[in-house]
Amino acid sequence: MFIQLTYLDSSLPKNDADSATQIVAAFRSTAIIDSPPLRYPLRHLLRRLRQIRIHPLLHLRHNIRNKFNLNFSLHFFLSLKKPQSMAKSPETEHPVVAYGWGARDTSGVFSPFKFSRRATGENDVQFKVLYCGVCHSDLHMAKNEWGFSQYPIVPGHEIVGVVTEVGAKVKKVKVGDKVGVGCLVGSCGDCGQCNSDLENYCPKQILTYSGVYTDGTITYGGYSNLMVAAEHFIIRWPENFPLDIGAPLLCAGITTYSPLRHFGLDKPGLSVGIVGLGGLGHVAVKFAKAFGTKVTVISTSLSKKKEAIEKLGADEFLVSRDPEQMQAAPGTLDGIIDTVSAVHPIVPLVSLLKPNGKLILVGAPEKPLELPGFPPYYGEEVDIGECNWRA
Ligand SMILES: [Zn+2]
Ligand SMILES: [Zn+2]
Repeated sequence: MFIQLTYLDSSLPKNDADSATQIVAAFRSTAIIDSPPLRYPLRHLLRRLRQIRIHPLLHLRHNIRNKFNLNFSLHFFLSLKKPQSMAKSPETEHPVVAYGWGARDTSGVFSPFKFSRRATGENDVQFKVLYCGVCHSDLHMAKNEWGFSQYPIVPGHEIVGVVTEVGAKVKKVKVGDKVGVGCLVGSCGDCGQCNSDLENYCPKQILTYSGVYTDGTITYGGYSNLMVAAEHFIIRWPENFPLDIGAPLLCAGITTYSPLRHFGLDKPGLSVGIVGLGGLGHVAVKFAKAFGTKVTVISTSLSKKKEAIEKLGADEFLVSRDPEQMQAAPGTLDGIIDTVSAVHPIVPLVSLLKPNGKLILVGAPEKPLELPGFPPYYGEEVDIGECNWRA
């Protein structure tokens, strides 16, 4: 549904809380904002209002122009009390100056973004970011395709660098050490999952970016010049392991390594299918080969065959859009790691499994996948994982 929004000025920076605050402050009394109309999806409008912390949506006057097309003429009041309780801007809320690449709306466009990092606490590690992987999750989040992005976003959760400062109680690393940070920067530390080294299942886990940290501020990720993170969520990097090559292990790596191990697809002689040869897929092929399995890459395009076989060492290659190829290989795989993060058919993949085979979905499409209950599921197991959440 679209509404016609009567808004102050179409030139108002659309996600800039400070500018909005200044404009609100310019009104000395409750004001009705009136201006050139903008067309906005309702959910965007509501999110925008939350972002600029204008909560009272006092009056919605509908104006039904015709019975097929509802145009709501929206008038809203700005309360002068709200700005006083506003948090500081990202640039001033912490003492350490930082900068990075930020997404400010759902366009997918990144631009330079100044913000700040907290002072290094006694259990914190500050490090200079040298490399950061680009995960497909970053693109999903930048465009708010999962619906919980908080703008501005500085993505990046495959972050590696060199320690520049440590808190007094930090034992794991010292200044000059190489370190990495993955998808999480916090959790409750006290629940059953946290006590079992399964912080990635903690209900109060804090994401590396677009999460809310314990001090109430928004977290920013690795598309930036420096990071500060709690020691517990820092990984000490092996001295002789290249930072740039290793960074993707912090998300794509663990997301594929973990299900291969967890579901027993790590035994020599098993046949494993890897769907998709992107960020997750190519790492999955390397792991599966290292475990000694026979690896079949399943891709929509023949163009990846050379890379899969010659570069990554896969044994077989199936074109998923070729029904003949797919139908010629039924019941041949012990398990499949499906890394595709777009909507795609699942049933043809299930058909490739042996009895009691396992299909593990680790991509995270923005729309639900269709899984008919009958007939293909005689004994196959379908598991759904997510980006680094099955570590
Ligand atoms: Zn990721
Ligand atoms: Zn917990």
